[in-house]
Amino acid sequence: MSLSGRILHTVAEMAAAMGAEVRGTPADATGISIDSRTLAPGDAFFAIAGENSDGHAYVAKALAAGAALAVVSREKAGALPEDDLPEDAPLLVVDDVLAGLADLARASRARTSAQIVAVTGSVGKTTTKEALRIALGADGETHASAASYNNHWGVPLSLARLPREARYGVFEIGMNHPGEITPLVRLVRPHVAIVTTVEPVHIAQFSSIEEIADAKAEIFDGMEDGGAAVLNLDNPLFPRLKAAAQARGIERIVTFGSAEAADVRLKDVALQSYCSVGVADVMGTPVTFKVGMPGRHIVQNMLAVLAAAKLVGADLALAALALSRLKPPPGRGVPIRLQVKGGPATLLDESYNANPASMRAALDVLSRTPVGTRGRRIAVLGDMLELGPDGEAHHAGLAEAIKTAKIDQVYCCGPQMHALWQALPSERRGGYAIHATHLEPMVAVAIRAGDTLMVKGSNGSRMGPLVKSLSERF
Ligand code: ATP
Ligand code: MG
Repeated sequence: MSLSGRILHTVAEMAAAMGAEVRGTPADATGISIDSRTLAPGDAFFAIAGENSDGHAYVAKALAAGAALAVVSREKAGALPEDDLPEDAPLLVVDDVLAGLADLARASRARTSAQIVAVTGSVGKTTTKEALRIALGADGETHASAASYNNHWGVPLSLARLPREARYGVFEIGMNHPGEITPLVRLVRPHVAIVTTVEPVHIAQFSSIEEIADAKAEIFDGMEDGGAAVLNLDNPLFPRLKAAAQARGIERIVTFGSAEAADVRLKDVALQSYCSVGVADVMGTPVTFKVGMPGRHIVQNMLAVLAAAKLVGADLALAALALSRLKPPPGRGVPIRLQVKGGPATLLDESYNANPASMRAALDVLSRTPVGTRGRRIAVLGDMLELGPDGEAHHAGLAEAIKTAKIDQVYCCGPQMHALWQALPSERRGGYAIHATHLEPMVAVAIRAGDTLMVKGSNGSRMGPLVKSLSERF
């Protein structure tokens, strides 16, 4: 999508990059789309086959919505629903649409003179990527991946969308399995690669945290010559990541964290309810910044952002100033005001995802949130999924953090959260239900004026609908 109407790729550029056969009379593309529902006029529509549906079924819809052209596979081009499709439909025909998208991404990368930053890590990728969008954007035109488009289609799509005029490009790269990052980072070829942190996330696919670190270290497989690795010195897996970077010949390793030895070091921090203020030493430059999201974990991510800003040559003062504009994306801590009997209460919507690291971070934020005189801090927690055979232990393990936190009541939801509920001291126990729909009425009767609730769980644990239902009720 391009709001400016600038040409992103001409037909000739696309055909050459993908080795495509041109049919009809396509127009130059101002953007790229893989979804006919959100397509903007002028986008090139790539008919990608996903898990649930095949884009080839939506070619006619995409063209009707104003697509400049559709990229389709040779095999399926003959079987498109011709009833709806004009005979001279503008098509680029390729052997494989996803491979075509990767080819176009490669061409985008080859033509750009932008400084490229790649972000991976177990948690904090999107937060860091969005902060970089704002921080680098204060200095020059910045393109960043949309949402969490970090996988085998999200990365090529994001890279193919890189405008030729961009000064900075920021790409999120994720993985669920070993071997996924290498081909993606070889497309992106970053000048700076950030690993936010390594934590037990998607651990079901791995036998140890070291294996997770090794899979993250694949980000060093595709670095631009002379590129820099930005690593979290406070993370226990740091030595392993550093060794992995060095083994790939990366000489420039920049560390961030609170430890004295960090190149980008947090010297002081004030954590507030909806923002934090940090004082950092960024490779010798003193920087004070305010970030518009709460929590020490967010401040930690901002150190990586400042490191990258410095490494790509952006104006550090402008970058730091811009961070105050960072706001929580949907489902990641957005505060919602509820009107309950007797006055307002606050709901912190963290329903987008959860794992042990982000759960602890969110519990810490809740614990620091001021409440009204009679108000309480209430955590409503759904299952953290994909944790493998140790799942219940990871859930029960949160009890320690809750005991020392200033949290009055904990409601638990889901088969695995039962382990936490049992491990909680009885005075902290709120209700328990296996399904979110059964927990919601229990929470609804409990909320009082002045309370702050934090609702968090993996997307699949259905905490999102619970948040929606509470916010509709009050
Ligand atoms: P995904 O794999 O879903 O794309 P992500 O790596 O992009 O996730 P974010 O969306 O930035 O991560 O954050 C996910 C959750 O992790 C949020 O609840 C956020 O508050 C928390 N989080 C972000 N950074 C950190 C961090 N450094 N340490 C612990 N938790 C963090
Ligand atoms: Mg993400």
